[in-house]
Amino acid sequence: MSNHIAFIGVGNMGNPMAQQLVKAGKQVKVFDVSEHAIKIAKKTGLNVVNSLDDLLSNASSVISMLPEGKHVYELYLGENGILKKISKDCLIIECSTIDIETSLNVGDEAKSLGIKMIDAPVTGGVMGARVGKLNFLVGGSNDAVKLASPLLEIMGQKILHAGDQGSGVGVKICNNMSLGISMIAASEALMLAKRLKMDIKKVHKIIKEASGNNWALTNYTPLPDLTDGVPSNNKYRPGFTAAMMKKDLNLANDAATSVNASTPLGKAALKIFSDFCEEGDADTDYSGISKKIGGDAWDYPFDPKGED
Ligand code: NAD
Repeated sequence: MSNHIAFIGVGNMGNPMAQQLVKAGKQVKVFDVSEHAIKIAKKTGLNVVNSLDDLLSNASSVISMLPEGKHVYELYLGENGILKKISKDCLIIECSTIDIETSLNVGDEAKSLGIKMIDAPVTGGVMGARVGKLNFLVGGSNDAVKLASPLLEIMGQKILHAGDQGSGVGVKICNNMSLGISMIAASEALMLAKRLKMDIKKVHKIIKEASGNNWALTNYTPLPDLTDGVPSNNKYRPGFTAAMMKKDLNLANDAATSVNASTPLGKAALKIFSDFCEEGDADTDYSGISKKIGGDAWDYPFDPKGED
């Protein structure tokens, strides 16, 4: 008899998402390959299992939240791919931000085995995951989305159904290209104001009310002490790492190339985040790009790898 949720990948996002399900009274078993993630999962009271067999036996749904397409491919379709181990009654909710091709490959194989699957990447970040207020960008059949909705509603506030399998990651890639560009724009505007020796609090407040506002500037402000609960207030600890943003901008660039789309700002943002990562800041929250933009005018508390 199927009864529990099998949660695979309990890193920065997966851990708080799994916790929301537990809080809602769901039976959840979690699995990860990283000792660090397992340690934190145990510390936060999640039911960690040691093998995929244990995890998948009698699972009613599988939720995966992994870093990249190659991890998703390996997990579902690799040598020991779990699609072969999952029962037909089990629903797959794949939440990672990955390339469209991998999403379609896994989705097609699941379909051929009679297993229902949706791609459901998220926006809202770690902060949204902690309070169950993610937005799910969903691709898949109406039936599968309906089946997944009670679980998505626990972890999120909005379920945005974009179309067939692969559409969720498609819209997520477009969204994050816009986000990467916006974070750089917010950093450039605030650091220009700082160099002009203006009162940053006033500048931030005014742009928020004016036409130069964007989501990054308002909700994920790249300079500290302007917005509550953001990584810039916490020495730029992630959050969402610069490496993840680089990954998403690469996905956007590959997608643009595949259809001959013109994305000059997306390309520029990819170059800026790639350089930032190469300079040693891959594990810094992506809002730390303000440090690179600000140069010698940037002087804020910075300890992205610290733990206090
Ligand atoms: P993370 O690296 O913190 O967590 C991913 C976890 O997956 C790690 O603990 C890793 O060990 C585990 N993992 C990798 N391969 C595995 C496997 N085969 N089996 C089991 N576990 C495996 O990453 P994250 O920040 O939680 O992001 C996860 C996904 O969500 C990414 O695709 C990211 O782009 C997307 N995302 C992240 C954020 C954010 O703010 N962090 C926001 C939106 C979307």
